[in-house]
Amino acid sequence: MAETEFHAVAQGLVTVRAGIRRAAEDFGRDPASIHLVAVSKTVAAEGILPALEAGQRVFGENYVQESKAKWPGLRERFPDVELHLVGPLQSNKAREAVELFDVIHGLDRPSLAAALAKEIGRVGRAPKLLVQVNTGDEPQKAGVSPADIDAFLETCRDGHGLTISGLMCIPPAEDPPSAHFGLLASIAERHGLPTLSMGMSADYEAAIQMGATHVRVGTAIFGSRSRQT
Ligand SMILES: *Cc1c(COP(=O)(O)O)cnc(C)c1O
Repeated sequence: MAETEFHAVAQGLVTVRAGIRRAAEDFGRDPASIHLVAVSKTVAAEGILPALEAGQRVFGENYVQESKAKWPGLRERFPDVELHLVGPLQSNKAREAVELFDVIHGLDRPSLAAALAKEIGRVGRAPKLLVQVNTGDEPQKAGVSPADIDAFLETCRDGHGLTISGLMCIPPAEDPPSAHFGLLASIAERHGLPTLSMGMSADYEAAIQMGATHVRVGTAIFGSRSRQT
């Protein structure tokens, strides 16, 4: 990888970390309470290295197969990496996801809750689980409708014995995001859920204002993705 690209990633990371700190201070929050998940989907292992060498340890990926190809090798060199699956998960990949990831952000249906519960029992490893909420009730988007969230959380807990750590959302592209972040925060508060995964490159400051504990930032660190995702 060219030295300029290497520097661009390190610089992107510096800029995003500064942006997180500034937003935290502007909105009266402790910067240490906000975790940066560097979303490295479609970025090759060598493109992730500059972020690792700059000290970043929390990464997000969208695809199980891609992650299996990239991360075992990187983890040998950086064993303290924390890996988050931020994209949708098919039930038939639940076992691989449980083996590979530390946090799974896209739990959004009873069949996936059942598959994860089974594999957590079988594999003997329990990633933290976040329930994705479709705050805009968009038909094409993954996530539980806000109207169904109370019942779904109960199904996860009482039906499958799962511990849910928090919630995640991706607001509709055409809406101002803050109302969606506020809705997610209020649902989490109602259920006493500590983790709020919300905010991406374009809107992480607004998410921090509304209480995000995890922001998922890709483009602002690694540059625009060549592949459409
Ligand atoms: C790709 C992706 C991100 C990162 O988006 P950017 O706009 O590149 O920061 C965050 N969350 C999810 C679920 C994603 O799929």
